[in-house]
Amino acid sequence: DREEARLQSRTRGSEQLHARAARSMTSGVPSSYQIRDPWPIYLTHGRGSLVWDVDGNEYADFHNGFGSMIQGHAHPAIVRAVTERVALGTHFAMPTEDSVVVSEELARRFGLPQWRYVNSGSEATMDAIRIARGVTGRDTIIKIFGSYHGHHDYVMVSIGAPYDDIGPADNMNSLGYGAGIPQAVIDLTVPVPFNDAPAMEHRIEALAAEGRLPACVIMEAAMMNLGVVLPEPGYLEAVREITARHGIILIFDEVKTGLCVAAGGATERFGVRPDMITLAKALGGGLPSGAIGATAEIMEVVASDRVKQVGTFNGNPLTMAAARASLLEVLTPEAYAHLDHLNDRLIAGCDEILARHGIPGYTVGISSKGCVHFTDAPIRDYTSFMAHQNAALPELAWLYNANRGVLMAPGREEEWTLSVQHTDADVDRYLDSLDYLARDLTA
Ligand code: PLP
Repeated sequence: DREEARLQSRTRGSEQLHARAARSMTSGVPSSYQIRDPWPIYLTHGRGSLVWDVDGNEYADFHNGFGSMIQGHAHPAIVRAVTERVALGTHFAMPTEDSVVVSEELARRFGLPQWRYVNSGSEATMDAIRIARGVTGRDTIIKIFGSYHGHHDYVMVSIGAPYDDIGPADNMNSLGYGAGIPQAVIDLTVPVPFNDAPAMEHRIEALAAEGRLPACVIMEAAMMNLGVVLPEPGYLEAVREITARHGIILIFDEVKTGLCVAAGGATERFGVRPDMITLAKALGGGLPSGAIGATAEIMEVVASDRVKQVGTFNGNPLTMAAARASLLEVLTPEAYAHLDHLNDRLIAGCDEILARHGIPGYTVGISSKGCVHFTDAPIRDYTSFMAHQNAALPELAWLYNANRGVLMAPGREEEWTLSVQHTDADVDRYLDSLDYLARDLTA
């Protein structure tokens, strides 16, 4: 209560703006994921690793736009590229050279030769699934329990709250996430647990026996919407082998991992090559973006126009200019080395604080991403996350952070994202805040 009262007294300007906003914008926010009780914090600007709110409070930004701003805010190379492009016209619905350069660079990084563009992660996964269905002529798809792949109907199934009582991992019922999703669509999306290749194979065989062999498996190679859950040794290799053997297209949804855990994403990091990759978030350097990469064989259904992959703003020149600068000038090998250095310090620092204060928990991270699981039990999938991750501590940590100038993405399923402009001082600020929380918890 003390921390909540403190945050409220620091954010009176946000309170006033929220009262005004709610009259014309539902709940006073552009997207429901921006709601926060009793009001959201409204920001004015960001620079480097920092952002400021309407009350003038400064925060080291570990939210980074739900993991999009790995370049940091207002990076000079991106400001320059976007400013030059604005003066040359921002939209034609005709291709520009930047889209060619970006495709060549993505092909080099991710090892998939053919790319197409969209404007969000949701569109990327929606189009990827349609392409997989078009290639195979099958309707059923497999996703992972608790994974988030965007807000379209195919994937708003078996995600998490309000279905926290989904039950044990052998409860394979598909559950729609919120009202408005047709049951017929929900039934086509079949969830399986993460880190359990035999369960996936059993499910595939059962579906095949019903004449419902899946078109694709869509998954994150490392789950980024249960905090961070890494794949256990051999799991991704087994998934690759099973899907290949059954003729099922394997899609790695790299909307969060792509460009953030290595130059070539989780695909490079874990060394397992999928058939398709979806990108978004960090690709656009802060502009709406999305991309789908695939083998030439798969993209033949698009090339032949059997599957429609279209959109007025696809490959938007402004986004492509930002993506080009981001890929060629900002996300360099040195930038990834810097991220690894900071993240190693942050992970070790969090673990040291938990150990020193005797607080159950451990830290999981990879390159720019990480989180504290406030439990000693291993979290390896959705079921163990729901059973063991502390329900209250992540929210309390969010408040402590906000009051000490550290901005985190809200919700216990989110992780931190560093940017290339973060410094050791930002890491120290995060660690000081966690130390403060730990001291109060054990006082
Ligand atoms: N896929 C993953 C793994 C995500 O984390 C998200 C968003 O958080 C999406 C897809 C959807 O992206 P967007 O919000 O840009 O539609």
